[in-house]
Amino acid sequence: MNLHSSSSSSIQSPLSSGESHGWSEMDEWGPEKVLQVYDPDTGMKGVLVIDNTSTGPGKGGIRFAESVTPSEVFRLARTMTWKCASAGLPFGGAKGGIIANPGKVNKVEWMKSFAKMIKPYCPSQYIAATDVGTTELDMAVFAHEIGDMRACTGKPQELGGIPHELGTTGYGVSVALKTTIEFLKEIKRNGMQSQESLSSVCNSIDTKGKDIRVVIQGFGNVGSFTAKFLDDLKIKLIGVSDVSGFVFNNEGLNIPQLMRDMREKTKISDLSSNQSQQQHQQVNYNILNKDEIFDVETDIFIPAALTGAINDRTAPKLIEHGVKIIIEAANIPTTPSADNYLVDNGILIIPDFLANSGGVIGSFVEYQGRTEKEAFDLIEYKITNSIRNALYSSVQRGFNQNDTSRVNVRKTAMEIAKQIVYRAMLLRKGAISVAREAYARKDRIIY
Ligand code: NAD
Repeated sequence: MNLHSSSSSSIQSPLSSGESHGWSEMDEWGPEKVLQVYDPDTGMKGVLVIDNTSTGPGKGGIRFAESVTPSEVFRLARTMTWKCASAGLPFGGAKGGIIANPGKVNKVEWMKSFAKMIKPYCPSQYIAATDVGTTELDMAVFAHEIGDMRACTGKPQELGGIPHELGTTGYGVSVALKTTIEFLKEIKRNGMQSQESLSSVCNSIDTKGKDIRVVIQGFGNVGSFTAKFLDDLKIKLIGVSDVSGFVFNNEGLNIPQLMRDMREKTKISDLSSNQSQQQHQQVNYNILNKDEIFDVETDIFIPAALTGAINDRTAPKLIEHGVKIIIEAANIPTTPSADNYLVDNGILIIPDFLANSGGVIGSFVEYQGRTEKEAFDLIEYKITNSIRNALYSSVQRGFNQNDTSRVNVRKTAMEIAKQIVYRAMLLRKGAISVAREAYARKDRIIY
């Protein structure tokens, strides 16, 4: 058993030499701890990054994939720092990663092994959850190995959990989209769309009304539940994709039927051989190549699959095909240069740490031992508030600075989150009066 550990005070470890390591990115916010673990008995290799715990124990899922790198785990942990702060939760930011294809190793043994290695920090400084490659069953194994049910959230219902399989993240994404559209209609009614770009988004959304077209990239946990909850809101979904293909219908997909048909399939491309089920109508699905999702006219694009899916190659295609709004359901789906390009071209982006916070808000409710119903209610309340706050502050900024060029919700929301974490860090140092003064002066909010 081997456990390397470094803290922010002694971070110059051998690990800092590698150019792509997360800890080469340390700054005023963290990371507080970076642990690289290896268990020669099982072969398990893993990473835990605890980014910032000033607002509470670090919260973040365990990603189980061959492609996991320390640098990626760090970036995901940092996203969790902003996400928990934005949602006003008593959690900090952290993330775990296990490096292997979960289908090719003994998953239960590897989960147990990872849990054993990080036990000293769990749940006092790190509370786990599911992420890509991990499920409620893995959380059951993890919690038992740590010996504390508070070690993770997303556990099976039998263990008092509110599994992510109930679709809390997807529900939050649908709330994010609904809130954004309602806000745009509201500011148009009140003549507040000062920025040219916002004015163009408002006009487009207003004229389309109920016919706003949406596509979703990714049809896993987040993408499929986003589709379900958007359908409940009667929003028109014209396409969804997964790793195998893209199912498209410009008149709108029948989501309940698609979900039924997908029950017997493992991937979207299997729908091309869709056999009619006696009890419901047969549908001939139009299945395209997965990357053709970037080649169809749509109003709203929801990335719910990969990190970096919106990049220098795909961003111009979104603009060319009429996209006005991007709701980031995946974590870090937009590269920094694509983000600048899209914002400069008037695209309204609702950032990941606001749009996909439904999962962690649900986790908080589970952590408190409360019910599923309370989880869904709190998700709606908190996401509506955080998105309205970020949108309103962005518009206000346009008014204050007479800036008619663009609306950057990510930048505004980040400054709001940073202010919350900054104040908590001051409080941790015992500087209560300084923290209050800083808060009153809105330090670090650079409008
Ligand atoms: P998942 O593994 O259940 O689903 C991923 C989906 O993406 C699958 O349908 C897969 O086929 C598809 N996909 C993979 N490569 C693709 C490609 N090249 N083109 C199109 N589709 C592709 O994962 P998930 O839990 O739904 O997570 C998706 C994203 O949302 C991740 O970025 C994750 O970090 C983020 N997220 C998840 C949660 C959660 O509660 N599960 C919470 C917050 C954020």
